[in-house]
Amino acid sequence: MKLKPKSLWRDFFSLLYPQVCPACKERPPIRGDIFCIHCYYKLPYTDYHLSNDNMMLDRFWGRLELEMATAIFLFAKGSRTQNVIHALKYKQKKEIGIRLGEDYGIKLKENPILKTVNLILPVPLHLKKLKKRGYNQSDLFAKGLSLGMNIPWSKNHIKCIKESSTQTRKSRLERLENAANSFTIDNPNDLRGKHLLIVDDVITSGATLEACGLKVLEIENTKISFATIAIANH
Ligand SMILES: [Zn+2]
Repeated sequence: MKLKPKSLWRDFFSLLYPQVCPACKERPPIRGDIFCIHCYYKLPYTDYHLSNDNMMLDRFWGRLELEMATAIFLFAKGSRTQNVIHALKYKQKKEIGIRLGEDYGIKLKENPILKTVNLILPVPLHLKKLKKRGYNQSDLFAKGLSLGMNIPWSKNHIKCIKESSTQTRKSRLERLENAANSFTIDNPNDLRGKHLLIVDDVITSGATLEACGLKVLEIENTKISFATIAIANH
């Protein structure tokens, strides 16, 4: 068997740098950073946080009232973004969630609407799923955002009480009904009169965030915004 020069280079690099960029899964990341230099240029950043007229806000138009909604990356199958999400969710790469959140949190502070956020709330996982995976990737993103924005986060408010069945074969209405009964709010008094930033890893139909958002909006004088790591076309 003949070794290709490219794979030799890869082996050489992996000896020097055991870490590999989670976006391309090829090159080493910039020292002390998440991604390689190539991916920092190639990743599909949305810059939605700079615009109050973006695709994420459009997706929720007419569904519930939002102050602001934003996502770091566009998501497509087989893309760099999918690699990043996969590493975060299934490869124990917890630091990705925290670092992405921290870097993005610093950017979000530039948005005047998001400056008024009082508390960050991650979309919870059902206890069964949490036990299986060992951690909730949205908690990590929330923790990072909290560091970057200098705003507290809490996993003690939105609770998942029903395991969601698979969403893919359902209609939009069925998905929403399915999600609506999945969440409950603990300690609602803490949230009264506050602007809450609800965060998740990826938004597709938006049914999960919508269900969490509607629950929070039932509490008197609350305002909500959404932030995710990625937004998929649906
Ligand atoms: Zn890369």
